[in-house]
Amino acid sequence: MENKMKNKKLTYIIYTIIVILLFSLLIWLGHFAKFQEFITKIEQSSFDLRQNIIYKNKTPNKDIVILAVDDATYEYIMDKYGSWPISRQIWSDVVNSIENANPKYIIFDMLFVKPNLSDKKADNNFINTIKNNQNIYLSMNFDNYSDEIRKSEKLDDKLKLKIKEGNLIDNPYITFINCRTIMKELIEATKNIGIINVTRDSDGIIRNTTPVFKYKGDYYPNLSLAVAIDILNQDSISFKDNKIILDNNHEIPLDTTQRAILNWYGKSGTFKHVSFWEAVKASKENNSEYFNKNFKNKIIYIGTTATSLSDIKSVPTESNLAGVELHATFLNNILDNDFIKKIAPEFDLVISILLSFFVGYVVLKTTSVPKTIVLLVATLIIYTIISTFIMANWNIWISLVMPYITIIATFILIYCEKYLMKSKDYEQTYKLAVTDGLTQLYNHRYFQEQMINQVNNYERYGNVFSMILIDIDFFKKFNDTYGHQSGDCVLKQVASILKKNSRTSDIACRYGGEEMAVILTNTNKDEAIITAEKICNTVRNNKFILANNEKVNVTISVGVATVGENGTKPQEIIEYSDKCLYKAKESGRNQVVSKI
Ligand code: GH3
Ligand code: MG
Ligand code: MG
Repeated sequence: MENKMKNKKLTYIIYTIIVILLFSLLIWLGHFAKFQEFITKIEQSSFDLRQNIIYKNKTPNKDIVILAVDDATYEYIMDKYGSWPISRQIWSDVVNSIENANPKYIIFDMLFVKPNLSDKKADNNFINTIKNNQNIYLSMNFDNYSDEIRKSEKLDDKLKLKIKEGNLIDNPYITFINCRTIMKELIEATKNIGIINVTRDSDGIIRNTTPVFKYKGDYYPNLSLAVAIDILNQDSISFKDNKIILDNNHEIPLDTTQRAILNWYGKSGTFKHVSFWEAVKASKENNSEYFNKNFKNKIIYIGTTATSLSDIKSVPTESNLAGVELHATFLNNILDNDFIKKIAPEFDLVISILLSFFVGYVVLKTTSVPKTIVLLVATLIIYTIISTFIMANWNIWISLVMPYITIIATFILIYCEKYLMKSKDYEQTYKLAVTDGLTQLYNHRYFQEQMINQVNNYERYGNVFSMILIDIDFFKKFNDTYGHQSGDCVLKQVASILKKNSRTSDIACRYGGEEMAVILTNTNKDEAIITAEKICNTVRNNKFILANNEKVNVTISVGVATVGENGTKPQEIIEYSDKCLYKAKESGRNQVVSKI
């Protein structure tokens, strides 16, 4: 009994292992199929969910200010100056006013692509402002237009990013074949130019940013990376172990696309916002107090936040984040070492296997269905909470979806397994209950049940059946001569002859003692006599091997009865066959009798 329990436990464990290995294999295969795309999409949503929970406990860098060209600014400029875009003179005036307040940096998330031919003087003033202030950063774009649309330009060496060591692996997120340069006078005026391309995931949401771009074989910095290198007093960076190293304390972890996963600080307006029209007004009024108050020692990002100016991005925390905040977020991530690192897929697999093991084991152990369901749901919730906690505290993105799938699949499979085992157990118990242990024939109880069934079938559908009753001749004497053990041997061999000489639809039973019976379904009297004779002959001609290997002959007497002709109730039919058997004994044994 104890052994059986042990065996069962072992089976359970082996099944669990098989189930889990199967799932690991499935997940692993998923890396190569459409399946992975689907998994990635849900995983990204789960990342968004966690970001939305954890950003509430984060505060952005207070030194970063957004000077926002917002809807109010558009109204103000149109009202006061009657034209759009904002004149280069206004830019020049405002930047000079800010510079008087000693800001750390002024960063334009804005493209000054073409000269304004009707106001060359304003352009020159703006160019001079840029030239005179080394803390101003401008932006530029890369793209993949063919040379037929726009000739791809060779960029000035001073714009290139200096690399101490290492390389990035080319891929479409970082490698471009064309660029959209800004006014050449501006490029001549400064070396502080960074790239502002952003890339969306397949669902249109921006989760990553490209820190370093590759163009014509050279590396160029993202706008905010360029500023960060300056803030950290570096003049070059290194690529090492899937990271960009800026200095001893600052590095940017890269994902497989060589991009950084951003960590978000909130929705629109997370960083301190100042409306650009106020700055225009204060500049006109020479309100240095205003500039000191808002911009002294600040890192100022200038960009559009007006929804009508369409530099609006979808990010995990909201669908209307201004592009300029995205760049600010990147800088903030660099300065605070706050990037998200995605855990390696192998770790995800280990976590999935461990959790599945746990859930599988508990499901196997627990008999109550509601309890196991509660356990499943609790495991999923706790795992979600833990993964959010890990992201909040260590910036690590561990997968939710893969473990979820494996846990739920294991749960279902183990339940199926449990159900199968139960029904197998039931089958085995049932078989034991209807089988005779010595002969492996059906037992007397089953014989009685089947007689009732057959009579019912006969009454309902007219299906004729017969039964034959067999008794071994002089068996008492046989036992006395050869011993009980040899008697058992003979019983087993007679049983085997019965089975061999009847059809699968026939039901061979041990009637009791050394008497056996066969129910012959769909069989009339004549056919039954043929079968009975066949059995009687086979026994007569068989050499029975005894316990001591001695070979002996045995004979049987057989009675045959058929439903309808000899009775319509089980008892009547049995009695008729018994009487035939008695007559066979009377008539000298070793024969078949079918009539009394
Ligand atoms: P007959 O030809 O008239 O049938 O003579 P018989 O000696 O066979 O008489 P009967 O059928 O009444 O005797 C049944 C004997 O079968 C009694 C018992 O010794 C033997 N027997 C019954 N069940 C078993 C069994 O399971 N094993 C063995 N070895 N013998 C059994
Ligand atoms: Mg008998
Ligand atoms: Mg007998």
